[in-house]
Amino acid sequence: MARVAIVTGGTRGIGAAISLALKDRGHTVVANYAGNDEKAKAFTEETGIPVYKWDVGDHEACLAGCKQVEAEVGPIDIVVNNAGITRDGTLHRMSFEDWNEVMRINLGGCFNMAKATFSGMRDRGWGRIINIGSINGQAGQYGQVNYAAAKSGIHGFTKALAQEGAKFGVLVNAIAPGYIDTDMVAAVPEPVLEKIVAKIPVGRLGNAYEIARAVGFLASENAGFVTGSTLSINGGQHMY
Ligand code: NDP
Repeated sequence: MARVAIVTGGTRGIGAAISLALKDRGHTVVANYAGNDEKAKAFTEETGIPVYKWDVGDHEACLAGCKQVEAEVGPIDIVVNNAGITRDGTLHRMSFEDWNEVMRINLGGCFNMAKATFSGMRDRGWGRIINIGSINGQAGQYGQVNYAAAKSGIHGFTKALAQEGAKFGVLVNAIAPGYIDTDMVAAVPEPVLEKIVAKIPVGRLGNAYEIARAVGFLASENAGFVTGSTLSINGGQHMY
């Protein structure tokens, strides 16, 4: 059955692939983004997927943005919390702002989007919330105390909200991607990336569509018995 789906950070990288995968499955998709108007414009022209700009770390902006989407497109049944940023550095060098910004957007964004949409899903008796965590939230990563804590928090958030949603037909799951070939990973220095790839048993980075197709499954009727799960998609790098 076709549903209305929103993908945060849905205009590029993994999010763009998720938007397209959900559209391919017949859903009515809208993509949120933060500030890259050029990418968002090109994406909407190319795909026909409408784009909505707001900061998912801003609670009021999420409430207002989702309200606008529901008025213009219809009740939101599928939320993919994909928007995320990195502000890497060892603890020694990391500023409080870098800590706070990563927590505010990566983890706070999940709370804000759930607050904006969960009640409606519960009232209608059907919903899917799919949160994009990370292998680095499962295993930790040098230079990422902020990002690892936020992503680990997403995995806990997923399990807690899954317990609240289950009896109302609202299923909540997470995907923990390994290293995927996107702008975010392109920012990792080449020698560091080479060491990372050497540790991936399949011997390569992942592709955004390898995450997106799994989101498509979790959003589908076929995943009706899956909730509170974290699906690790990482080429065998971390078997958790
Ligand atoms: P990219 O940096 O390529 O894209 C990030 C997307 O998030 C962009 O669309 C960006 O919007 C959006 N975004 C950033 N901040 C906000 C905000 N405050 N409000 C709304 N949207 C925002 O990231 P990836 O595609 O690589 O990553 C997507 C998700 O997957 C992230 O949560 C990331 O942590 C996670 N992940 C990625 C991995 C990887 O290897 N790439 C591995 C594991 C997890 P705009 O275009 O406007 O800037």
